[in-house]
Amino acid sequence: MNVAAILKLKGRDVLTASPSTKLLDIARLLGERKIGCIVIADDDGNVVGIVSERDIVQELARAGTSVMDEPVEVCMTKSVVSCREADTTDQLMGEMTAHRFRHMPVIERGRLVGLVSIGDVVRMRIAEAEMEAAAMREYIATG
Ligand code: AMP
Repeated sequence: MNVAAILKLKGRDVLTASPSTKLLDIARLLGERKIGCIVIADDDGNVVGIVSERDIVQELARAGTSVMDEPVEVCMTKSVVSCREADTTDQLMGEMTAHRFRHMPVIERGRLVGLVSIGDVVRMRIAEAEMEAAAMREYIATG
């Protein structure tokens, strides 16, 4: 299974914000949408960063609550690791484990076309395992 199959199931909508968005507004968006990270894009739609709830907590611990008035660019991760639609779930799990993060934007020809989380990958792997088990049971039952 690959990233394209995950996007087919979950859709391609990705919430983005500009680098100048205040951290407080980013936190509000995360809370309202019940999501863990937001991709940061410039006016042309280019991905310029990613910010997760973990970044906000770390920045709060480091600088205190006044940081919530600062733009998100003060604490976003600027070197974003992305994936492609053809990448496999195994590749994604490898990247997420190696880099210790839980989200990967999907970029094709320079454009953001989706976002995959560790939860999406795990769901897909469980569905795969269930399909394999069902096929095996069918094979055994029908000889
Ligand atoms: P997460 O586990 O996704 O909440 O993120 C943990 C840390 O990794 C945070 O500092 C994020 O900004 C960063 N991060 C998350 N996803 C990515 C990514 N795809 N590329 C680079 N950094 C990321």
